[in-house]
Amino acid sequence: MKEEDQEPTGGKSSPAGAGNSPVVPKQLTLESRIRFRCHPGIDCFTRCCSDIDIMLTPYDVLRMKHRLGISSDEFLERYTRSRIEEKTGWPQLLIKMEESSGRPCPFVTPDGCTIYTDRPAMCRYYPVGQGIHRKQVDDQVVNEEFYMLIREEHCHGFNEDRQWTIAEWRENQEAEYYDRMAGEWKDLFVRSITRDEEKDGRRQTMFFLASYNLDQFRRFVLESRFLETFQIDEEETAAVREDDVELMKLAFRYLRYLFGVEKTLSLKDGVLPEEKPGGESA
Ligand code: SF4
Ligand code: SF4
Repeated sequence: MKEEDQEPTGGKSSPAGAGNSPVVPKQLTLESRIRFRCHPGIDCFTRCCSDIDIMLTPYDVLRMKHRLGISSDEFLERYTRSRIEEKTGWPQLLIKMEESSGRPCPFVTPDGCTIYTDRPAMCRYYPVGQGIHRKQVDDQVVNEEFYMLIREEHCHGFNEDRQWTIAEWRENQEAEYYDRMAGEWKDLFVRSITRDEEKDGRRQTMFFLASYNLDQFRRFVLESRFLETFQIDEEETAAVREDDVELMKLAFRYLRYLFGVEKTLSLKDGVLPEEKPGGESA
């Protein structure tokens, strides 16, 4: 068994360069115990919701835009900013903090998070960060998760009495469900670190569209040659017209196919690989 890579993939934290890392340098497992409680009566309530980098997964975007009742375009324009992630070369989406004093999150009020039940995965995991070891086991590369504590001075939740195992904390925060919804997409991110490939502007644009702008991706599926090119049965076509989760799953399959990670789609008889929408050979 050979360890290949180790990549932190989750955890709300202050922007890079803002000071010493708050990550406690000790790997935790699902059985590790932490002492922590966050509640509206605590003196630091909402202090963690300003001037921070909150990365969004496609499923976060889906939940938040539904909660707000707006289109992907409007959500992206009003509430997010993007940057190219250094290690992978893929565009990464973050909540755009307000310009006002202290740079608060646009969803925070003195009473707490206004989208609490639909808050992003990173806000759920906190103060537990998450990472992935990629390991070679026999002839297969497998992902193995590990956890770490993010301990910031302003957070007084560590002084409270409540104890949890990491597994209990994750269950309480619906972290497993969120991980499942973004699993294939995160895997694409992590794999990219070990693959030496160029991410040109066209690839980055398609990655952004299929990852974060589901409304536009739906138009791409229904209005381009997508359905003439790939074998997508009628039931799935009907589902992606109506259901954003089904559409998101198709988007992940498309990205994995397009970037040669896995043969998750099949071309229709007579279609040549170079004819497919998105334009690259898998
Ligand atoms: S989304 Fe909600 S929980 Fe997350 S930083 Fe913003 S206000 Fe805080
Ligand atoms: S306890 Fe920590 S997570 Fe909870 S409000 Fe305070 S700073 Fe935020």
